[in-house]
Amino acid sequence: MQSYLTDPLLLLKKLDLKPQAMSFSATAASQFSFKVPTAFVDKMKIADENDPLLKQILPVYQELEHKFGYQTDPLDESLSLTQPGLLQKYHGRALLLVTPGCAINCRYCFRRHYPYDDKGHLWGQIDNNIQLIKHDISIREVILSGGDPLSLSDNKIADLFARLEGISHLKRVRIHSRFPIVDPQRVTNELLTILSRSKLKVIMILHINHANEIAADNQLAIARLIDHKILLFNQSVLLKGVNDDIEVLVQLSETLIENQIIPYYLHMLDKVQGSAHFEVSDKEAIVLYQQLRDKLPGYMLPSLVREISGEKSKLPIGL
Ligand SMILES: *Cc1c(COP(=O)(O)O)cnc(C)c1O
Ligand code: SF4
Repeated sequence: MQSYLTDPLLLLKKLDLKPQAMSFSATAASQFSFKVPTAFVDKMKIADENDPLLKQILPVYQELEHKFGYQTDPLDESLSLTQPGLLQKYHGRALLLVTPGCAINCRYCFRRHYPYDDKGHLWGQIDNNIQLIKHDISIREVILSGGDPLSLSDNKIADLFARLEGISHLKRVRIHSRFPIVDPQRVTNELLTILSRSKLKVIMILHINHANEIAADNQLAIARLIDHKILLFNQSVLLKGVNDDIEVLVQLSETLIENQIIPYYLHMLDKVQGSAHFEVSDKEAIVLYQQLRDKLPGYMLPSLVREISGEKSKLPIGL
């Protein structure tokens, strides 16, 4: 069985949908490639043009429209790069870009224009970056990001953990990943062993935008992560047509808590070129968020935040 689809027309055929009716664009697909695991496809509804999972990954012609205010590097990350592969924006935390690879290519991704290739191979920077972290005793937590850090092999992850464990001022490793949800087979016994044996506290931040993304296969992967003492949180992006709806957001939080995942952030979209059709305005977002607060217990409420370059943290909005 093939575990990834890389042909968007094949996906539409499988779902019994017509490319024209879906605003499908081959040009958009050539600018940022199409990639989706079959485990994610299996959770889409047949013949549903508005399927919230399909919307996240289908290349559409709206991506080609240039909208004012949308940039290729909206967070000025090229300025925060301490050196290739290492981002230090916030106190006590260093973010390591370990791989450009992802399990799934999300159309709204703020890294869709990221110049990974110009910066050399990220894995090749690891030695340097570990040295920099070693020499900065203010760093308590290393965040593994990318891309998706679980694109690395288990051997590389074991190697990375061993090196991080050798740094005495580090307390925590955080992994930002969509793999356990979109390709749950990635949660191998070997990976669980590496994570659970670490002397560092291991935290995983999943990225789930809609309750439909969770089903029996990834519930099992989530349960195994929890059995191995990994603390699970979730971040979502507020996306027009995907989750900009009060019932959808309530259902998402409820499904997360049922699965022992704590809702962490609800991000405002980063204004990256090609993603404007996903934008939810501040006004709409604040109204939705107030409704959400009126309906849910406090522990089920993610923080609604936006990232603004130069700030000391992600900024809460709608307080
Ligand atoms: C988002 C982010 C973090 C983590 O921020 P938290 O608020 O701790 O989740 C750390 N470093 C960088 C560069 C980030 O973009
Ligand atoms: S970095 Fe995250 S949001 Fe971007 S394409 Fe990869 S999985 Fe999707």
